[in-house]
Amino acid sequence: REPQRLGKVLAAAGVASRRGSDALIFEGRVTVNGEICKVPQTKVDPLKDIIYVDGQSLPKKLAPKLYFVLNKPKGYICTSSEESEKSVLTLFDSYMKIWVQRNPGIPKPRLFTVGRLDVATTGLLFVTNDGEFAHHVSHPSSGLTKEYIATVQGKITKRQLRTIMDGTEVEGVQCVPMSVEVLDGEPGDSKTKVKIVVREGRNHEVRHIVENADLEIRSLKRVRIGGYRLPRTLGLGKHLLLTEANLRNAQ
Ligand code: URA
Repeated sequence: REPQRLGKVLAAAGVASRRGSDALIFEGRVTVNGEICKVPQTKVDPLKDIIYVDGQSLPKKLAPKLYFVLNKPKGYICTSSEESEKSVLTLFDSYMKIWVQRNPGIPKPRLFTVGRLDVATTGLLFVTNDGEFAHHVSHPSSGLTKEYIATVQGKITKRQLRTIMDGTEVEGVQCVPMSVEVLDGEPGDSKTKVKIVVREGRNHEVRHIVENADLEIRSLKRVRIGGYRLPRTLGLGKHLLLTEANLRNAQ
């Protein structure tokens, strides 16, 4: 085994995030073989060197990988800072509290969102502590498509539909939806639902595409990523622990 950076070793042991581990080191809370070490880049051998954080040895066990699907409600933000009051991660607080009670001695999994949904967007959001899974699913090169249902005020004209289909420039890149479909509504509906499938997933992409056609978005919901569809029975703000089979679908 190659020696590794102290900061990385702490993060891998589940002590804190990469940045959080470096902060612990800077603060002088970490010792290596009995000496305080304040340099995160210090090379250590996790098997030979004796590393303590706040006087405690590193946890022997690793946090298991957890994968959730959340039906994100409006008003919650996708931030990795667990302290943020309106973070979607606060929706996992009571679950994780019980998890910690049931798994004594195992580091608590540090959850984060896979990609982001806008504060006003609802629907399918994966939440995990598996960085590789998150990277794979949210990276455009995975080619995973994402399906959204946008509810807009009024009817959509043929011309507006064409404008949506043509896409628009977002962050300097022309974003063209893979497919666009106006869904049948009830006669007399004052709103129209439109299904939009995209691949890129740039900031506010779907909103930009719809607003570019002079339409006012009343709500936006993500219902599918890759082969995984948000279960209809999953209420807003509720989450499910995913199985291996679910995950294969999502990739
Ligand atoms: N596109 C948007 O405009 N908003 C989202 O939340 C996701 C995709």
